[in-house]
Amino acid sequence: MRASVVLMPLLAIAAAAQRKCGNTKVPTGLKETAKSFQRANARSAWIAHSVANKTLNVETYFHVVASDETEANGYVPEDKLKKQHEVMNEHYKSTGVVFDLKNISWTVNAEWSAFSVDAEDKTTEMAMKKNLRKGGYAALNIYFRPLGDGLLGICEFPDDVAADSKEFWMDGCQVLHSSVPGGSTKNYDLGATATHEVGHWFGLFHTFQDGCDGGDQVDDTPAEASPTSGCPVGKDTCPGNKYPGLDPIKNFMDYSYDACLDQFTPGQATRIMQMWEKYRAKGVTPSTPDTGSDSGSDSGSDSGSTDPWKRFKLSNFY
Ligand SMILES: [Zn+2]
Repeated sequence: MRASVVLMPLLAIAAAAQRKCGNTKVPTGLKETAKSFQRANARSAWIAHSVANKTLNVETYFHVVASDETEANGYVPEDKLKKQHEVMNEHYKSTGVVFDLKNISWTVNAEWSAFSVDAEDKTTEMAMKKNLRKGGYAALNIYFRPLGDGLLGICEFPDDVAADSKEFWMDGCQVLHSSVPGGSTKNYDLGATATHEVGHWFGLFHTFQDGCDGGDQVDDTPAEASPTSGCPVGKDTCPGNKYPGLDPIKNFMDYSYDACLDQFTPGQATRIMQMWEKYRAKGVTPSTPDTGSDSGSDSGSDSGSTDPWKRFKLSNFY
């Protein structure tokens, strides 16, 4: 009895000690795309320059999926989601990305709330996404729910998808409900998890992807051998002249604590725009536009009617 009283808090701390993200493997095709952008950017500074000062407005939908109406079981209140939205826009400010939050939905469904992202049978995940998803392939859908397995989040990387394909409907991000600003996940409660995960949705990799000689295929991200835990200033896992710079522990695509993370590099901002143009700007939409029960009147069938490249315009419905 005494032993369990001592052990439980220790286990709780251990479980939250390291950020855990589901996007550990990058699809081969996407990695090749990243390498081709890297080579093109190295050949001509003009290529990166041409997208450097763009503003990208991203149609965004938040979905809360809980097993009941308590915060502990996934029911995130509106004020915390508004804060999450604000924080994402602050974090992405240097990149030119602006998230235009169109709608928030709340759903109580024990099955959709509790499934494991590792489940081989994707029936439940597909049912949740097909019912809740809004907009075309250029629209960001984030599902906030209790993920289990110590997981903080996972997103679908961008790809060439066909309308109504399985890949189209599976697109989006799943983020741990308690990682929002003011949430209950210690050290990951300032909203940087959503920022990190959405980085994958745009096509960014981990800063430590493939180690010192692999990297994230972005030239101005310093080489890093292993994910960061906490905020260890001076960490340098790829030392020597061959690998200039310390580990990018403050980069949103590392695994550091939320309080440690505050930057994307200019190269990552360029990469976001390049990936966007290749995969998401086409705005593939489902052939049968959703007629969801929410109030959002401008969701769905937005086939080319809006220009995502327009200049800075912060227009959400608040
Ligand atoms: Zn990640």
